[in-house]
Amino acid sequence: MPPNIPPAPADAASRRAAKPAIVYPAGTMPGPDMAALEAARRAAVKTHELIVPPRDARAFRVARGQFFRIVSIEGPQVGDLNLWNADDLAERFFSGKTRALHGTHVGTGDRLWSNMPYLRPMATISHDTLGWYGFDADGAGIHDVIGTRCDPYTNLLLNGTAYDFCCHSNLSRALATELQMEPHAVEHHVHDVLNVFMCTGFTKDTHQYFMKASPVRPGDFIEFFAEIDLLGALSACPGGDCSATHSSDAAACHPLKIEIFEPDRAALRGWTWPSPSAYHRHHGAHAGS
Ligand SMILES: [Zn+2]
Repeated sequence: MPPNIPPAPADAASRRAAKPAIVYPAGTMPGPDMAALEAARRAAVKTHELIVPPRDARAFRVARGQFFRIVSIEGPQVGDLNLWNADDLAERFFSGKTRALHGTHVGTGDRLWSNMPYLRPMATISHDTLGWYGFDADGAGIHDVIGTRCDPYTNLLLNGTAYDFCCHSNLSRALATELQMEPHAVEHHVHDVLNVFMCTGFTKDTHQYFMKASPVRPGDFIEFFAEIDLLGALSACPGGDCSATHSSDAAACHPLKIEIFEPDRAALRGWTWPSPSAYHRHHGAHAGS
């Protein structure tokens, strides 16, 4: 036992036996109209596609109401996804609250939420060919919002080496190209990602974050419905299928494809487009006034 662990009190067992309560019960939120999304996607027409080269990233734009897919091609590969409001980079994907609202891993019907003070769905997952995976015997699932993204700072901290093609750097370069700026001037916009196709969990004994070989195969895809106009960036992680290593050139890496689809707009006629949170933002400063 490590030092400085205090002895358990006499009532330790009863304290540990307290029943868990779901922090954000699913039924309290109005869910997306999946039947309308299904109708809109069935007649959708592909309008654009781009390739994300291995150990690199690309930015892309998706209009509100369009669908976009991240597609596995050539071989198993993990992708790191960032999303911003196309008109205001201050609004961006909030992996922490998405995790709190939906769970450690996301799938069809779950939404990707933006940060405060906006806190609205930026995208809804409309299809996932890996939805069959669920949680395996190790407790691992697919598409996590647990991890952050591989980055050169942590790599330098742990390994003492500077590696330039981690997802954080790839996303910074892609955003810099999009904004015609230098990576160091935009990297503060890069945020915690959705780990697309990544198979992860926490070890049962020490509760440490682990990864294992992604079950994704060429042809698999995850599809998103854009709830607002989006600027996205996707990195093809240097970890490849993330079975063993990352943050180096050691792993076999493959490209990823992004496909953008124009929907059947008639099917979306009744869609409620999300507004930023209606909270007044006084935070108690004007209480009673
Ligand atoms: Zn990565």
